[in-house]
Amino acid sequence: MTDFDVIILGGGLAGLTAALHLSKTQKRVLVIEKNPYPNHKVCGEYVSNEVRPYLESLGVGLDAAGVVPIKRMQLTTVRGHEIVTKLPLGGFGISRYSFDHLLYEHAVDNGTIFQFDTALECTLKNGTFHVKTASMKSYSSKMVIGAYGKRSNFDKQMQRPFMNQQSPWLGVKEHYEYDEFPDDLVALHAFPGGYGGLSKIENGQINFCYLATYDSFKKHKDVAQYNRENVAKNPFLNEFLNKAKPVFEKPLSIAQISFASKNPVEEHMLMCGDSAGLIHPLCGNGMAMAIMGARLAALTTLDYLNGKMGQADFETKYQNLWKHEFQERLAMGRRIQSLLMRPWLAELGMNTIARSETLLQGIIRRTHGKPILV
Ligand SMILES: Cc1cc2nc3c(=O)[nH]c(=O)nc-3n(C[C@H](O)[C@H](O)[C@H](O)COP(=O)(O)OP(=O)(O)OC[C@H]3O[C@@H](n4cnc5c(N)ncnc54)[C@H](O)[C@@H]3O)c2cc1C
Repeated sequence: MTDFDVIILGGGLAGLTAALHLSKTQKRVLVIEKNPYPNHKVCGEYVSNEVRPYLESLGVGLDAAGVVPIKRMQLTTVRGHEIVTKLPLGGFGISRYSFDHLLYEHAVDNGTIFQFDTALECTLKNGTFHVKTASMKSYSSKMVIGAYGKRSNFDKQMQRPFMNQQSPWLGVKEHYEYDEFPDDLVALHAFPGGYGGLSKIENGQINFCYLATYDSFKKHKDVAQYNRENVAKNPFLNEFLNKAKPVFEKPLSIAQISFASKNPVEEHMLMCGDSAGLIHPLCGNGMAMAIMGARLAALTTLDYLNGKMGQADFETKYQNLWKHEFQERLAMGRRIQSLLMRPWLAELGMNTIARSETLLQGIIRRTHGKPILV
């Protein structure tokens, strides 16, 4: 007898969603997460509506949580070109502070057990997984889901190829008070070496999150100087940074953001969320992919636990399902990222997109899925 049916490594959106889905079917689920909730994360905090029906079917009350419905997207360039378009599906704004905490509370209500600890090691012996943590605890399970995000000690242990490549991107995020920003808009503003997104969250504040290359960042002393001297070269961001009032003591930042391709199954663990692959944030749906990937992992795990499939079959089934669902949009995201890495092409590309609503709508369609009807 194992301690749990499923152990989930990492309790971000992917891990929490998988926990919620599995514990709803009375499976014994343990989530090992290193940081207690609630906490802030570097993220654009715009969630595509493709996951709304699924989350609601899991009992997550988004409207009660005060999410802000978002229907339009604005794209602007350094030269001041601007385009505003309707988002075919739309989405909603909610801070990661509240979103992750909301899912955590639901998972606890369903019976999920949480350990706030760092998972260090995972081995499979005679059909049983054994997970060890930094505080010397050890747990066994029939199945492990890897949902530990973009980059973790497990990636190093498993020698995943992207760990040997330097990534040129860093991410910065801060919340602001700014009354002039419309409720229903997500704005994407390009600046030399990066771009940033603005959208409203549940408490009326504005989230400003950007992705920038090291090359453009390294000449500046800190985020404040980079904002003043580089980010503000976009006239829309210049106005925002001059008028808006920062809320955090200091901005959050992360480095080494990799968009390299990864395998959805590693050492018999089903990977979901960013540990299976991160889409370029310009596509605006990494969170939806994490939630949808968690659903696929939960459904496949249930088939295995309920005896419908053997280990080899369900690993192949998951790989195929995952690739079918996400491969095309990840490839599109990677094309966008390689364009952004060449400054003159990035400027040309952004200026072209900012003049063509048809092109912009085509990109949105090819990087987003359809709502999951449950
Ligand atoms: C700059 C930027 C902007 C973005 N903007 C958007 C956006 O606007 N909209 C959108 O949809 N997506 C956006 N994304 C993508 C989105 O943030 C991710 O796709 C999403 O967070 C993935 O969720 P996850 O659960 O896979 O990972 P995470 O949310 O990162 O969760 C992983 C969890 O695992 C935990 N963990 C890691 N290692 C261990 C360990 N060894 N033991 C225990 N716990 C561990 C971490 O503490 C963390 O809580 C953005 C990404 C970036 C970088």
